[in-house]
Amino acid sequence: MFIVMISSECAPVAKVGGLADVVFGLSRELEIRGNSVEIILPKYDCMRYDNIWGLHITHNDLWVPWGNGAIHCSVWFGFVHGRKCFFIEPHSNENFFNRGAFYGFHDETMRFAFFSKAALEFLLKTGKRPDVIHCHDWHTGLVPVMLAEIYKHQGMENQRTCYTIHNFKHQGIAGANLLTISGLHRIDYYYSYDRLRDNFNHTAINFMKGGIVYSNFFTTVSPHHAWEAQHSNQSHGLAHTINTHGAKYGGVLNGIDYEVWNPEIDRFIPYHYSRDDIDPKYGNKEALRDRFWLSKGYKPIIAYVGRLDQQKGVHLIRHALFFAIWNNAQFVLLGTSPERDTHNYFWHLKNHLNESPDCHLELSFNEEVSHLIYAGADMIVMPSIFEPCGLTQMIALKYGTVPIVRAVGGLMDTVFDRDYAHRAIEDRNGYVFETADYAGLESAMHRAIGLWYAFPGEFRELMRNGMRYDFSWNYPGQHYYNIYEYIRHK
Ligand code: ADP
Repeated sequence: MFIVMISSECAPVAKVGGLADVVFGLSRELEIRGNSVEIILPKYDCMRYDNIWGLHITHNDLWVPWGNGAIHCSVWFGFVHGRKCFFIEPHSNENFFNRGAFYGFHDETMRFAFFSKAALEFLLKTGKRPDVIHCHDWHTGLVPVMLAEIYKHQGMENQRTCYTIHNFKHQGIAGANLLTISGLHRIDYYYSYDRLRDNFNHTAINFMKGGIVYSNFFTTVSPHHAWEAQHSNQSHGLAHTINTHGAKYGGVLNGIDYEVWNPEIDRFIPYHYSRDDIDPKYGNKEALRDRFWLSKGYKPIIAYVGRLDQQKGVHLIRHALFFAIWNNAQFVLLGTSPERDTHNYFWHLKNHLNESPDCHLELSFNEEVSHLIYAGADMIVMPSIFEPCGLTQMIALKYGTVPIVRAVGGLMDTVFDRDYAHRAIEDRNGYVFETADYAGLESAMHRAIGLWYAFPGEFRELMRNGMRYDFSWNYPGQHYYNIYEYIRHK
């Protein structure tokens, strides 16, 4: 099968969050299964160019209809750790992708509407006719719309679309002028509630809604979050649209790349270990303490790794830190925040706790340190308010680091409470709490720390239970392949 991914991110060249990992990991898995996969990305100036091999211009004469004229683009090709990637570089005064950052500009919807159109124009003009076009998040929500309304009539009538939503919070909200500039025109037609009109803001169109309405199949990144999006407010106003199109909808759990995340071969950790030989993990624990100047002694280390965003339950992360210290545990945090207040708050906290021998805050993005933390910590905490899938807990499980999580989204599909889960004891792998408040978090942390001190043998079994789970791309790869087959023959 020939699959084209159209995305605003791909790890490691253009990575902001989990979306980038998914585009890379899924593409790789599909290729291993014998499919041909190509990825189309914007050519950002701030990409990690050191991770692209053989970058060169393949097409220098792509003209993308835009506004009253057309924008001239060059298309570059290069390999990103073996993946075939095309990068679209527009030459226009708007300077869409040469701004020193991936996101955060006032004309965001214009930038990615243009990218979506340019990607389709590229496929059209080069005669590429993929069986399936897989697009992701609000940035490329207009791809299925433009394919069905424009490109289908120009020779792309056999292409099918799969649309994956990684985060419902950002949907791509724009006004009528976007329809005119992007060549969709027919404002009344698109401003129907059956098509692109936002369900609550009647003056706006919604890219993500367009992706849902027009794609042949749409997914989100875990089965439980798929349910939440339909039955709670977690889809941020799109529940009605999802239910209307529920027959072509599903949740597919993300995978993780076990060539990168595997304590048996991880090149960033000093001691390798496995489920059958767990002891070297404690060498990593000491290495982590050395790195962060933590005191040595018989105490568990609890960690947090991730963005410091409201979504992640910032106030509960802070509480987890203090609760750990008060209850004879150590706490390590690795994270950054794009919000200035949160950023300042955690810097303040870091200064305040600078002398503590039981706690360290590392306020940066550091891939290497994250590996040492996964390997060296005993537990990891994720008190998320919402969590479409969550990769952190899946990585932690592979490293024998027991997750303490809130019962939400993908966390519910991957972490099963040691004391209360309706599962065989050997399938239970962590601690889960329901309500996003201090009492809920404390009860779970209390149980986890209690088991660590009182029943170390049982704690070790819990670690081993988690290490047995397979969250590789193997299952999700097959799942997406089945979806592609289904929409091809429908
Ligand atoms: P999200 O996509 O919502 O940010 P996920 O749990 O799906 O959260 O993915 C987070 C990924 O980013 C994990 O691989 C995690 O290790 C990594 N990560 C997050 N923050 C940092 C950081 N400060 N340094 C290094 N890696 C980080």
